[in-house]
Amino acid sequence: MHEFSICQSVLEQVEQITRRHHARRVTRIVLSVGPLSGVVDVLLQRAFDALRLGSVAETAVLDIHTPAVIVACPSCKKESRVPTNRLLCPHCQQWQTTLVSGDELVLLRIEFAPNTLSDNGHSVENEHV
Ligand SMILES: [Zn+2]
Repeated sequence: MHEFSICQSVLEQVEQITRRHHARRVTRIVLSVGPLSGVVDVLLQRAFDALRLGSVAETAVLDIHTPAVIVACPSCKKESRVPTNRLLCPHCQQWQTTLVSGDELVLLRIEFAPNTLSDNGHSVENEHV
């Protein structure tokens, strides 16, 4: 189950970022998991539930976003949103398209709990895993 090792590296990155921002606790992690990334979000959620214990994200919520699959066409130069199982250009039926988005795994956002009462907490965005 490779979701476990992926989740492990996500959490390591979250720990590092948390330290860098002098925060102690994470309240929310937002991940963008492309439909073509090969990661099953249910399994990732299950791995997170097991691995977060004892980490800075122990009480954090994991939000998984699914981005659209987008291909670029070398013939008509258009970028189109396509179904996961059909990566053809919908304009000219060219099949040699390039994937623009859909296989990525991105840490979209991490939200930290405030360290003190005067601190409102903060967040960081867009870190590639
Ligand atoms: Zn085309």
